[in-house]
Amino acid sequence: MKRYDIAVIGGGAAGYAAAITAKRTDRNVSVLIAERLPKTGKKILATGNGRCNLSNADISPDRYHGSCKNFLKLTSVFDVPEFFGSLGVLCEDDGQGRIYPRCRSAASVLDALRLEAAKLGIEELCGFDVMNIEKRRYSAMPLFAVCSADETITAKKVILAGGGMSQAALGSNGSILGICEKAGIGITPAFPALVPLKTDPALVKPLKGQRADANVMFCADGKVIASRRGEVQFTEGLVSGICVFDLSYLYEKYKEKPELKLDLLPDMSTRQVFELLKDVRNIRDDMAAEDYLSGIFTRPMGAYILKRALKNCPRTAGQISDLKLGAVADNIKALSFPVTGTAGFERSQVTGGGIKAEELVATLELRKMPGAYACGELLDIYGDCGGYNLDLAFSSGAAAGKSAALKVRI
Ligand SMILES: Cc1cc2nc3c(=O)[nH]c(=O)nc-3n(C[C@H](O)[C@H](O)[C@H](O)COP(=O)(O)OP(=O)(O)OC[C@H]3O[C@@H](n4cnc5c(N)ncnc54)[C@H](O)[C@@H]3O)c2cc1C
Repeated sequence: MKRYDIAVIGGGAAGYAAAITAKRTDRNVSVLIAERLPKTGKKILATGNGRCNLSNADISPDRYHGSCKNFLKLTSVFDVPEFFGSLGVLCEDDGQGRIYPRCRSAASVLDALRLEAAKLGIEELCGFDVMNIEKRRYSAMPLFAVCSADETITAKKVILAGGGMSQAALGSNGSILGICEKAGIGITPAFPALVPLKTDPALVKPLKGQRADANVMFCADGKVIASRRGEVQFTEGLVSGICVFDLSYLYEKYKEKPELKLDLLPDMSTRQVFELLKDVRNIRDDMAAEDYLSGIFTRPMGAYILKRALKNCPRTAGQISDLKLGAVADNIKALSFPVTGTAGFERSQVTGGGIKAEELVATLELRKMPGAYACGELLDIYGDCGGYNLDLAFSSGAAAGKSAALKVRI
């Protein structure tokens, strides 16, 4: 049976940062990364559409959600672009605060992690699906037994970096959360976050494939809870886009008549929109009503807005009364879509919920499993789109790796 000082469970962003930082903290500790898939880092390769948005220039606590937010003080001391600089990866801001490797290649990021791990002598054991972790005594020495279906390895410390439940084909399937739950560790129930929202399919069918710049408001019981500006996309029964992803967690919290309201001309007041509509009606008065708004929105979007606003659409733009223009302006400022659910874990970029803050001491060690540390998406915290989640995975992984390495010999 192979014995290590530290066994890291999960070869993703958090796992690599943990293993590398553990080794950099104490070159004499032996470190293993155990990964259930045939290869490590499958999710890293999928990030940022293969370009890997690995951090953000503004890592502010407001961009995170969940009980483990208080650990951001611990993780904020770790500078992710600097870490990648130390691996030979040149990073740059895209001008909007999102930080990418300059080559815009997630494969380069994963290569850098693998090369550094190999250089430091970190072992990797792929195809090792951890099913159980328990403390056992081996010749009177308490060690963690980390078991797959047919093999057991032992370690003085374990670092749990098994991720959440999002997009299981990329590796993390919730199995480590399950092991923690079995050990009596408090878990905030997992839910899909950064995910498209479901609506009435009949309402979005005419918009399939359309995109629009909008200020998106998430409303519950008629009140605006939060809003985000950005590009909205419409697909089969779904409303998506980064701004919708960032609001999607609210669906878990607000079940009272949840709806999205889209302000499709966010830089204008309702009055200004109304005046604009009057001007355009004068210009296009004898044109078909479907063409009336095609200079402001795409033709399908313009026709759709008229259909939503007017029960009986007249034949020409000039026949639309001022009263009806008021309804059109209202729809442009707050085009409403009821929210009926989310697209689920298979479409979510991250998992909300996870190990509760109260289960961890300041070093990310688990109170109920001394010697075991947790990091990454496994924790009850996630961030908005824009590099916040990878930053959290790398920085919490590094914190857990350092904590574990410092305690191996104690
Ligand atoms: C399509 C997509 C695009 C994204 N793009 C971005 C982006 O550009 N920027 C950003 O900040 N975030 C992005 N994210 C989110 C980000 O990728 C994750 O939050 C982050 O990778 C989490 O890292 P992690 O190491 O905690 O978990 P994971 O990356 O999920 O790694 C966990 C690893 O543990 C392994 N594992 C799980 N269970 C076991 C077990 N029982 N035994 C052994 N191994 C196990 C898994 O196979 C996996 O390799 C994206 C997510 C997705 C799905």
